[in-house]
Amino acid sequence: MALIRAAVYRGLSRRRLLAGAAAVVPLAYLSGCATEPAIPTGAAGPFALGVASGEPTPDGVVLWTRLAPDPINDGGMPDAPVEVAWTIARDEAFTQIVQRGTVTARPEDAHAVHVELTGLEPSRWYWYRFVAGGMASPVGRTRTAPVANAPIERLRFAFASCQQYEQGFFAAYRHMAADDLDLVLFLGDYIYETSWGGNHVRRHGTPEIFTLADYRNRYALYKTDPDLQAAHAAFPWATTWDDHEVSNDYASDRGEKLIGPAFLARRAAAYKAYWEHMPVRPALRPSGADLRLYRALDFGDLARITLLDDRQYRDHQPCHRPNLVGGSNFVSDAQCPDRRDPRLTLLGAVQEGWLETTLGGSRGKWNVLAQQTRMAQWDTEINGPGRRFWTDGWDGYPAARRRLLDFIAARKPANPLVIGGDVHGTYVTDLKPDFDGPRSPVVATEICGTSITSQAQAQADTLKRQAKNPHVKFADSATKGYLRVELGRRRATAELRGVADVRRSDSGIATTAGFVVEDGRAGAQRA
Ligand code: FE
Ligand code: CA
Repeated sequence: MALIRAAVYRGLSRRRLLAGAAAVVPLAYLSGCATEPAIPTGAAGPFALGVASGEPTPDGVVLWTRLAPDPINDGGMPDAPVEVAWTIARDEAFTQIVQRGTVTARPEDAHAVHVELTGLEPSRWYWYRFVAGGMASPVGRTRTAPVANAPIERLRFAFASCQQYEQGFFAAYRHMAADDLDLVLFLGDYIYETSWGGNHVRRHGTPEIFTLADYRNRYALYKTDPDLQAAHAAFPWATTWDDHEVSNDYASDRGEKLIGPAFLARRAAAYKAYWEHMPVRPALRPSGADLRLYRALDFGDLARITLLDDRQYRDHQPCHRPNLVGGSNFVSDAQCPDRRDPRLTLLGAVQEGWLETTLGGSRGKWNVLAQQTRMAQWDTEINGPGRRFWTDGWDGYPAARRRLLDFIAARKPANPLVIGGDVHGTYVTDLKPDFDGPRSPVVATEICGTSITSQAQAQADTLKRQAKNPHVKFADSATKGYLRVELGRRRATAELRGVADVRRSDSGIATTAGFVVEDGRAGAQRA
C-alpha cells in the first residue's frame, strides 16, 4: 500500500472531508504508471479542477475529471495520453467498491475524461474518485435516478446560472454543497467570455477569449474555485448553456461582432471546451461547431426534466443594434414589427418538435422545462409611454413562445414548471399564451432564477417594470444565489437562497423568499 496525496475541499462536510483525506490506494492498482509520462505536480496535483458527475439515469451516471496541474496555463500536462483509474463505491470509505476501470486522458481533449457508467442501482448514493500519476483525486458523491415510472415521494434539486467570476465569490455553492439535494441543474453562463460590470472582487486576468486554448483556460480558472468544486463533488449535475459559454447574445451562426464561418470557428472552439469541462456524455464530443445538448431526464413517476438549448438553433434576433452585426436590442413595437414574425423560432423547428413529443409523452407529475432565459413577457419601458422589449429572451420571439404555450394549453402536460436564468434576477410568473389578454388562462408556472454572482439593474427599476407586467408575481434583481426546489406529490416548493454579500467568499446565506405551486394548479403563490 502506498499513501497517496488527496486534495480536500474547503466547504465539504467534515464527514466527507475525512473520507477524502483518508484516501489510500494500492500501488498495484495504479495501472501502467511505470511506463507513463510523469505528470508535473502543481500545488493541487493533477486534479486541480476537482471532480464532477452528471446525467443520472436509473442505472448510471457520468463521472468527470480533467488532469490539469497548471490549470490556467494550458493545463500543464505532457503532450501524451495518460491512463486514469476510476473507482466507484457504495460507501464513502470505499470498502464496498462496485466498479473500477481505467480511461485514457488524451491531449486532444485537454486530458479531460468522461466515464459513462451503467449497471448501478437506482436511487442510491455512490462515491467515486480517480487516480493518475500516483495521486488520487478528491472524492465525489453522486446519485442515480429512481426506477422508470416508480412512485417517488419527492425530488430535490437546486438550479443556478450566471457566475461571472469577477463580480463575486461562489459562496452560494458552498452552501448548496451542504444542502439535501438529489441533483443540480445549471442553466447557462457557466463562464463569461469578457470582463464586464464593476466592483470586481477578482480578475479573469486575460482579455476576451476566442480560441480553444482561451476557452480551456477560462473554464479552468472558474473551476479552480473551491466552492464550485464542492458543489460538483456533492451532487450529480445536468447542465445546459446560454450565450456566454460562446459570446454575448449570439444566435446560431451570428454573434455581435462575427458572422458566418468566422463565428462558427469560435463556436466550435467554445463547444469543444464546454464538452471537455462538463460532466456530460462522452458521445456529445463535438467534431465541429455542432453539439446536441437538449435532452430529457426522468425521475420515477414524479418528474420529467427537459433541458433545452436556446442558442444553437435560434433565428437571429430581429432588429439588432445598427452598430453591431448581430445580437440583441431593446425595441418598441413601432421600431421592430419583425419581432412579431410568426416564423421566428428560439429553439429551432427540430427541437420544438422534440419538445412537443417529449412533453406529450411524459408520465411525470411535474414537467420541468429547464431552459436559459425568462419566458414571460417583460415590458421594460419605464421612461415614457408605450412598450419596449429585449430581443435576446423569449420577448424577441413572441410567436415561438405563443406556439409553446398554446401547445401546453392544448396538450396539458402535467404541472409544467419553467425554470430559467440569464436575466440575473428572480422572476416568478403566471405563464399565459396571451400576456395581454386578461382572460388568457394561466397554463404554466415560471420561476426564473437569480444569478450566482452576475450583476443586474437596480431593484427600484425592476419594481417599476413589475408594475407594468402584472403576470409577474415576484421580481427581485438584487438577491444573488440560487433556487432550491422540492417536487412532491401534492405541491412543489421553491426557495430563493440569497447570499448576504456576494463580495465575500465566507458569506452566509438565507432563504429570502419562498413559493408554492399546488398540484394541478398553474401559478406560484408566496409561501
Ligand atoms: Fe448571465
Ligand atoms: Ca445569458
